[in-house]
Amino acid sequence: LRSKSTGLPDVKERTLIAVKPDGVQRRFIGQIIQRFEQRGFKLVGLKMLQASEDLLSQHYSELRTKPFYPRLLKYMSSGPVVVMVWEGHKVVQTSRTMVGHTNPAEALAGTIRGDFSFHVSRNVIHASDSEEGAQREIQLWFKGRELLNWDCCDQSLTLAV
Ligand code: UDP
Repeated sequence: LRSKSTGLPDVKERTLIAVKPDGVQRRFIGQIIQRFEQRGFKLVGLKMLQASEDLLSQHYSELRTKPFYPRLLKYMSSGPVVVMVWEGHKVVQTSRTMVGHTNPAEALAGTIRGDFSFHVSRNVIHASDSEEGAQREIQLWFKGRELLNWDCCDQSLTLAV
């Protein structure tokens, strides 16, 4: 979690967040983005797409033997998704806390699933569950040039005259 070059806490960690088809259809895109912005994370990639079965089967390859897998793929391809890459210190772990338990019945109020959903088959949002998983998923959903490095205007006033 520390930068090898500077020894400072790593603020460049990245995670993949997806607003699932039910989250898009129920118009939660804005509220979900707002939660990540207000927490202090940086948006470095964003797109809306209709995910193909091939992409989804790679994304959920670890779950292919689960009984719910066919229904999961049908759900995830039932409409467009909004996929995002968010960057910041411990963003993987913090996002999982913000998103809440996989089963909305067990998700605490105040979490995204706890506030916006009630059933595991329609739980509104995806968040990578580990740093390795995040790297794999980001490469799967985004091309390198679709991820942007940018600086915040309030970190430097060198341009002010
Ligand atoms: N899922 C489901 N039924 C289950 C468990 C999971 O439909 O009993 C779906 C649900 O959409 C979940 C996704 O499969 O978000 C991936 O499951 P995982 O265990 O990876 O949970 P997550 O990381 O999304 O919390």
